[in-house]
Amino acid sequence: MRLYDTLTRSHVELPPPPGPIRMYFCGSTVYQRIHVGNSRPFVLGMWLRSWLRQTGYDVTLVHNITDVDDKVYAEAAKQEISSRELSERATSWFFEDTDDLGLGRPDLEPRATETIPEIVEFVRELVSRDLAYVANGDVYFRVARFPEYGQLSGARIEDMVAQETSELKEDQRDFALWKSQKPIEDAAWDSPWGRGRPGWHIECSAMAEKFLGREFEIHGGGNDLRFPHHENELAQSRSLGHPFAQVWVHNGMLELDASKMSKSLGNVVTLRNVLDVWGREALLVFHLSGFWSKPVDFSDDVMQQALARANRFRDVFRRPHEDAPADAWAGFAAALEDDFNAPAALAVMHEWRDHELLRRALGVFGLATLAEQEAAPAEVTELADRRQRARAERDFDEADRLRVEIERAGWEARDEPGGYRLVRLP
Ligand SMILES: [Zn+2]
Repeated sequence: MRLYDTLTRSHVELPPPPGPIRMYFCGSTVYQRIHVGNSRPFVLGMWLRSWLRQTGYDVTLVHNITDVDDKVYAEAAKQEISSRELSERATSWFFEDTDDLGLGRPDLEPRATETIPEIVEFVRELVSRDLAYVANGDVYFRVARFPEYGQLSGARIEDMVAQETSELKEDQRDFALWKSQKPIEDAAWDSPWGRGRPGWHIECSAMAEKFLGREFEIHGGGNDLRFPHHENELAQSRSLGHPFAQVWVHNGMLELDASKMSKSLGNVVTLRNVLDVWGREALLVFHLSGFWSKPVDFSDDVMQQALARANRFRDVFRRPHEDAPADAWAGFAAALEDDFNAPAALAVMHEWRDHELLRRALGVFGLATLAEQEAAPAEVTELADRRQRARAERDFDEADRLRVEIERAGWEARDEPGGYRLVRLP
C-alpha cells in the first residue's frame, strides 16, 4: 500500500501488515455545525482505517476536537454564553452529524481542553531547550532554530511573516505556543508563564504524541492545514528530536459554487443540511467519486449524479446475481493500494453484478446499506399476487390496472422466471 506524502512530495510505501499503522487526523474546531467540507478528512480517515484493517493492519485512528480557539471565544461572546457551553454543544452536534455518516467512530477523539497538562509540559520542554521563549505571558516558537521550517508546505517567507504579527516576537515568523489570557477569554489555565491557553498548533503535537507516541505512521487533514498548522506541528515535534509523522496526507478541499448551490441548500452548507437533503449514501458516493488529494466541486449537479450512482448500485441487488471473474477483487484492491484511488475502485465496482463481491466492496466505504432490500408492505404484496394471478388467467387489463396501483404505492413488480420481485421505486 502506498500513499502520497506531502513532505517528500513522493509516494511512500507503508510497512507490511500488520503494521501497526497509527494515524492522527486534525479534526474540527467546535463552535457551530460543521461545514460539509469538514466531512472530507473525517470520511477519508475512517475509510483508510477500514481498508487497512481489511488488509490485515492493526490501526489506531486519533481524530482530535479543537475546543479552545479564537472562534470559540468570539462566537460564545456573541451568543452571551460561556465558551465551554458553546464548545460542548457544538461537540455534540459534531458527534451527531458525523455519526449519521454511518462510518462508526475514530478510536480516540481527544479534546484540546483535556490535554492541557501535556501541552504545558511540551511547551516547557521547548522553552528549556531554547527552542521557544517567553514574552509577556506568551510563549513563542523560535522558527530560526528549525532550519527545515517551510519544507512541508512550501510556504514563502511573506506568508510566514504575515501570521499574527506581534511586537513581542523576536522574529515575525515565530508562532505562539501559549497565549496569555485576553479579556474576551472566559476559559484559561494556569501555566509557568501565567494564566492563558494553548496556541492551536501545539495541541496537535501534544495529542498526537500522547496517544500515538513520538513516532507514528500517518498524519492527515485538509490541504488548508498545510500552513501554518501542520508546518508548525512538525517544527514543534521534530525540533525536540521526535520523528513525528512518517507520511503526511492532505485531502483536497471542497469547492462550492454559490450560484449552483442555492437551489437545494441555500447558503448554509453544513454537513447536517447535506445529510438531510441528500442522505448519507449520496454524500459518501460523492466523496468516493473524487480523488482524495484533489480539490472537488460540490454542487447540486454533482450530488444528483452521486445519488444516481448510489441508486445504480442499489439496482444491481434487485437484478440476478452474476459471478464476477476470479480476479475481480484483485483489481479493486489494486486501485486502493495505489494511493487509495477510490474513483478507480468505484469504476471497477460499477462493472460488477456479483452481489457478494459488491456488498463486500461497498462495506469498505460504509455503503453496505445499498445491498439491503426494503421489504414491501403486505398490501403491496397482495396487489402483486393478484396481478400475478390476472396474468396467469391472461386478464391483461386487470394486470395492467394492478400494475398502476402498485406503482402508485411506490413499488414496481418486476417479472422474473417463476414469479416476481417487488422493487422500491426511486
Ligand atoms: Zn491539528
